[in-house]
Amino acid sequence: MADKKTRKGKRDSVIVLCAHSDDQVFGVGGTLAKYAKEGKRIIIIVFSYGEKSHPWLKRKITVKMRVQESHDASEIIGAEKTIFYGVEEGKFKDMIISRMIDQKLRNIFSKYRPSRIFTHSSDDPLPDHRELNQFVLEFCNIIDYKGDVLSFDVWNPFKLGERNLPRIVVDISDTFKLKISALKCFRSQWMSMASLLWSVYYRAIKNGFANHCRYAEVFYKIR
Ligand SMILES: [Zn+2]
Repeated sequence: MADKKTRKGKRDSVIVLCAHSDDQVFGVGGTLAKYAKEGKRIIIIVFSYGEKSHPWLKRKITVKMRVQESHDASEIIGAEKTIFYGVEEGKFKDMIISRMIDQKLRNIFSKYRPSRIFTHSSDDPLPDHRELNQFVLEFCNIIDYKGDVLSFDVWNPFKLGERNLPRIVVDISDTFKLKISALKCFRSQWMSMASLLWSVYYRAIKNGFANHCRYAEVFYKIR
């Protein structure tokens, strides 16, 4: 991979807060790759290891595998840092509090001063995704975050609560291939990945068509 410049200073930063190790690629992968090419610093925070995906494997093996896959995907996308909080799936609310994740996040926000952050949609069908959305919005209120908070969908056929909010369209025609390559890093997820890949193409083409470009990702400004 091309080596990334880690020049510190006034580079614009973008932070993604997601529940599982592949959500950021499904939801924001093309946009992140585009931003990275523009010189923005991309920080990805994954709240769980997604270890429940392979209950037949020992936890340690699954965690190691999923962390490695995410790092590989981040390298393709050009993300500078990928951080895991190890929250257990299905226990987001309690573990976010017990692990004092708000304090960790405060440190990250004051270090990187992101101009824009991405997280799950409140319309998402998965409870872990919705709980993270709620936590992120509360956190932003508490720290009085001034940047944009944008929501993404991983797979959500029904957009209800957020559909009237401002939409942000990002033309990802130049980075869509990187998104697909990054998705292919999640080898351990391949069975579910393969079945979801068509939806990645379908949505990118549909969003692109509606916005006069080849492929696009669409987000909602939730704050
Ligand atoms: Zn997820």
